[in-house]
Amino acid sequence: MSQYQKEKHLIVQTAQELVHKGFLMATGGNLSVRVPGQDAFAITPSNYDYMKMTEDDVCILDFEMKLLEGHLKPSVESGMHGAIYQVRRDVNAIVHTHQVYASALTLIKAPIPSLFDEQVRFLGRSVDIIPYAPSGTGMLKNTIAKHVQNHNNAYMMQNHGALIFGHDMERAVHNVEILEKCSLAYLLALLSERKVSKIPLAIREIAFAKLRKDQKKVAAGETTTGGE
Ligand code: 13P
Ligand code: ZN
Repeated sequence: MSQYQKEKHLIVQTAQELVHKGFLMATGGNLSVRVPGQDAFAITPSNYDYMKMTEDDVCILDFEMKLLEGHLKPSVESGMHGAIYQVRRDVNAIVHTHQVYASALTLIKAPIPSLFDEQVRFLGRSVDIIPYAPSGTGMLKNTIAKHVQNHNNAYMMQNHGALIFGHDMERAVHNVEILEKCSLAYLLALLSERKVSKIPLAIREIAFAKLRKDQKKVAAGETTTGGE
């Protein structure tokens, strides 16, 4: 049995859960989880049917993109995942989706301001649009690595999709769901052509401070459930 079995199992189980929930479609998107205590992560193979994927199909890479285990080509966004784990020590799980409502906002380059308490508590002060770069390129990896340093946990990639983080995979999946709910609500509000209200600034800062406190604990190696 592989020393990475736990991580491989989590990737398969989560990918299939995200397909069932409609956040992953066809072979689009990819997800990864950090291997605790190692400069390595488990990631989905490239262009591979999530419903056919088994634990043996999951790739294990180090931060130099060396394949430690696996027989398939790793996701074309592996470099992006690896770069995020290096610049964000608080992030232990990454989900990249082509989820529909967030993708729609990327087409009109509309960042989501602080609309809901829960959004800021778990996703950060805003959900920003990261400027376009082609899929699977070093240019995309470098652009992403620069933008994610503002400590938010969700981003939208222009004309592409969404990028969501968690201190663990369960949190990352919840954050995918929160992002899609906020995206749909915001799109509907924009369609009304009326003024969109935001939460009060003071409340936004309290909620974001809670997220930052959790992130610092995780980065320092302390555990947190980040529930409050
Ligand atoms: P992979 O199948 O190589 O992970 O690519 C899918 C994707 O979403 C690229 O951005
Ligand atoms: Zn993609």
